[in-house]
Amino acid sequence: MKTYFTRSFLAVLCSVSLSCFAQTIEDKGEGGPNPASANDANHPCISTEEYKVIEQRCAENRQLLGLTTPRSTAVTALGWPLQAAGNLPDCSFYFISAGVDHDTTTGILDYNCGSRTYDGHAGTDIAIFPFPFYKMDSNQVQVIAAAAGTILYKSDGNFDKNCAGNNLTANAIIITHADGSQTHYWHMKSGSVTTKSVGQTVAAGEYLGIVGSSGSSTGPHLHFEVWNGTTASSLIDPFAGSCNTWNANTWWATQKPYTEPEAVKVSVNTTDIVLPACPATETTNESSSYTIPFQGLGLSPGYAKFYMYLRDETSGLVANLSILNPNGTTFNSWTRTSTNNYHASYAGWSKLLPTAPGTYTFKASYNGIDCSTQFNILGPLAIDEATDHSFNIFPNPASSNITISLNENISGGELTITDVAGRRITSQQLSAGSIQLSTEKFATGLYFVTVESAGQVVTQKLVISHE
Ligand SMILES: [Zn+2]
Repeated sequence: MKTYFTRSFLAVLCSVSLSCFAQTIEDKGEGGPNPASANDANHPCISTEEYKVIEQRCAENRQLLGLTTPRSTAVTALGWPLQAAGNLPDCSFYFISAGVDHDTTTGILDYNCGSRTYDGHAGTDIAIFPFPFYKMDSNQVQVIAAAAGTILYKSDGNFDKNCAGNNLTANAIIITHADGSQTHYWHMKSGSVTTKSVGQTVAAGEYLGIVGSSGSSTGPHLHFEVWNGTTASSLIDPFAGSCNTWNANTWWATQKPYTEPEAVKVSVNTTDIVLPACPATETTNESSSYTIPFQGLGLSPGYAKFYMYLRDETSGLVANLSILNPNGTTFNSWTRTSTNNYHASYAGWSKLLPTAPGTYTFKASYNGIDCSTQFNILGPLAIDEATDHSFNIFPNPASSNITISLNENISGGELTITDVAGRRITSQQLSAGSIQLSTEKFATGLYFVTVESAGQVVTQKLVISHE
């Protein structure tokens, strides 16, 4: 990928000096296609053998449940089968990596006469993005029932960090609907599948599981498949389009456009994101607080990394990016014109942080849709040594362990410890009460402990001394 080529090239040029590397990329954009992998013809989401098993299990369950082809004239209108969990702070979270293949020979053809599919693909692959394994680990994207119905097939407890097409079994749900059609939800996270059993009913929009990478899957995504009957040969494509000759009408309650160009996420980061090979969890290096003076790893003093993640990047579209002051005026702004078409991509810039304390906004506008995030600048004056009573650290100075206790009027918040260079050492959620932290691996020196709670940010000094 171009991104990695460019960056490793720079790293070689500048290997004698880290600051050389930092200055080379300063204020310049970087990015490219998201390296998230997708299934393809050599890695089908569901193997031929698995289809046979599904058909047989569904037939058996139909008999057990007395569901003898209960076809009604009701037309199933499908809702989108994914939703953000309450803990997802992003603007959106998915892209379509492959649709149904309408070419019954060796070619490929999607419903819109394009090539967003792979040979023989019988479903719609909806990938989660960015940081799919991070999202999976954090249960941030839920699979939900596209329409009301009865659970006809259920599978859970199978390995869920697969990176390849193979014969592993997926964690999956099949729902049969009143009109005799059925929807299939594949590749979910182990242990996340609804506790309901085969034969129980589900409402439209009801939780079914968490997006994962179980079964024949090259990364976390939902394979969503619709049958207009009880066998694989009754496959339909819920998307209507001029190259879908199987069903003239859309099955979606509201069909999404063929492409949805949008910034799904923006973030402010202490250093570069880390996108390791599947199935390792990505390191986002995001932070919502920066104590001035700030020094990010590999960045010039006072700079942070500002990232934008795009779905359906479209050549010619212009992204307008801005850092807004607490009063809404512009601190800095820039633009980026797309020169490629990508299903999922990202771009990152190192930009000078503001230094005046306050809450700032980083905003991207792409295809007329805004996506923004807020971050706090903490000046040295924000450090409250004696008068703040929101939390206590003891002992301080400390060596191998500290206890951080929240006072009674604080019910929880986010704890971040940074070193004097502004590098984030650790970050975690705090609930009411106190927690113990090992500081054995902290080097001797001064640290800043920040607690963000209910919009309030308080920072205290921590001294670690191993002498
Ligand atoms: Zn698929």
